[in-house]
Amino acid sequence: MSDAKSYVKKIQEQLHEKDPNQKEFLQAIDEFLPTMVPFLEKHPEFEEANLLALVSEPERLIQFRVPWQDDKGNWQVNRGYRIQFNSALGPYKGGLRFHPSVNLSILKFLAFEQIFKNSLTGLPIGGGKGGSDFDPKGKSDSEIMRFCQSFMTELARHIGPDLDVPAGDIGVGGREIGYLYGTYKRLKQYDAGVLTGKPLGFWGSKVRTEATGYGAVYFVKHLLNDLKDDFNGKKVIVSGSGNVAIYAVEKLQELGANVVTVSDSNGFIYDETGIDVSLLKEIKEVKRQRLTAYAEQKESAQYFAGQSVWDFDTSADLAFPCATQNEIDLEQAKLLVKNGVKVVSEGANMPSTLEAAEYFIENGVLYCPGKAANAGGVTVSALEMSQNSQRLQWESEEVDQKLDDIMKNIYEACRDTAKEYGEENNFVLGANIAGFEKVAKAMLAQGLV
Ligand code: NDP
Repeated sequence: MSDAKSYVKKIQEQLHEKDPNQKEFLQAIDEFLPTMVPFLEKHPEFEEANLLALVSEPERLIQFRVPWQDDKGNWQVNRGYRIQFNSALGPYKGGLRFHPSVNLSILKFLAFEQIFKNSLTGLPIGGGKGGSDFDPKGKSDSEIMRFCQSFMTELARHIGPDLDVPAGDIGVGGREIGYLYGTYKRLKQYDAGVLTGKPLGFWGSKVRTEATGYGAVYFVKHLLNDLKDDFNGKKVIVSGSGNVAIYAVEKLQELGANVVTVSDSNGFIYDETGIDVSLLKEIKEVKRQRLTAYAEQKESAQYFAGQSVWDFDTSADLAFPCATQNEIDLEQAKLLVKNGVKVVSEGANMPSTLEAAEYFIENGVLYCPGKAANAGGVTVSALEMSQNSQRLQWESEEVDQKLDDIMKNIYEACRDTAKEYGEENNFVLGANIAGFEKVAKAMLAQGLV
């Protein structure tokens, strides 16, 4: 075994020993570290500095109590978290997730991936993530507001426009960011740059809402362009029906693809005439209803209750998982390959299990990992920080063009780095090495503090 290989294995073993119960974090580590071997063979100085051990340890973990009162007057308590993982390239940056499954392992995996995603954007942002095991489903608007106010009452002391800048994620959209921002402002001062994903009326960025979904599509647009191909007539499976999924569907349809599915945690919609994105937005963003409402209003739509869209046996060209982690397992990956899927672009974070991702790569699927393909959201968040510092709001066309340009750069960095290390089309390896190199160099130059 080469030196680099045994070093990587040693660090993996140490991390497994330290936190044996952090399943998702260890999955992200097991995906990332082995791809560092060829890089360390070329750059032994990073191994000498024990950089992999350093980069796998968060700079700071914050956990706090979030008490709040429900509409019946009962006191509830949830856990709040913020992981400040790495600040080598700039202030910690990453979303807040409100979902009952949230725990330290999930947030550590998300924050770890965020370091390299943010590095890939080429913008001055470090990596972080946070959230709560609070379940927003079925809560009234006032309950959401009270929860957000209590959450920010503690979080405010740990964040700031030049320190740590949270944004949204699952369960946290414009409404929640508005409530969180209001409380921050009351406790500290007017400082728009402390949160991104703000509504447009108080210094949000145009195209932020659309950015993650659009970005995942732009990534594939540049990939298809290399193959002298485009989206015209392509049949696409999308999962999820939240922020990322809606805008992935919108951009895919705009570029000529036919998206036939969307899903939520209760089931999925198959609409062979193509998902009606205006109807989807009305149901999810305005009325905050479930997907069953879509099937009730669209005659061509079929609703499959209690089933995963990834078990649906239908031919397709492209797949965009945009719901959550580990939604595609090995069997489902096999089904996608059997059904002709040639490109998988991850709008969600780590939606494919390690085995599923390996199967895609081994079987020639152009597999675009979340940390590269879904970087559009954080890209426009960083552009929102720039606009807030300038006290300016840029036009949609300008932001959209910058987003497209940055997604092109990210795609090319993944492509070229994979090629440089003799693993053509292995965008996982390309993304990991290209993302890590900048962070590692900065850490080394800063004296490994
Ligand atoms: P939303 O809360 O807007 O939507 C999440 C969607 O995924 C919903 O349709 C939800 O269904 C579904 N979902 C969530 N958990 C599960 C589950 N356990 N099983 C099945 N379906 C589930 O979140 P976003 O669209 O913002 O985020 C989706 C993914 O994209 C996440 O992985 C997130 O980390 C990632 N991401 C988001 C970014 C952003 O800018 N928002 C940026 C980069 C990545 P239901 O309503 O039934 O829960």
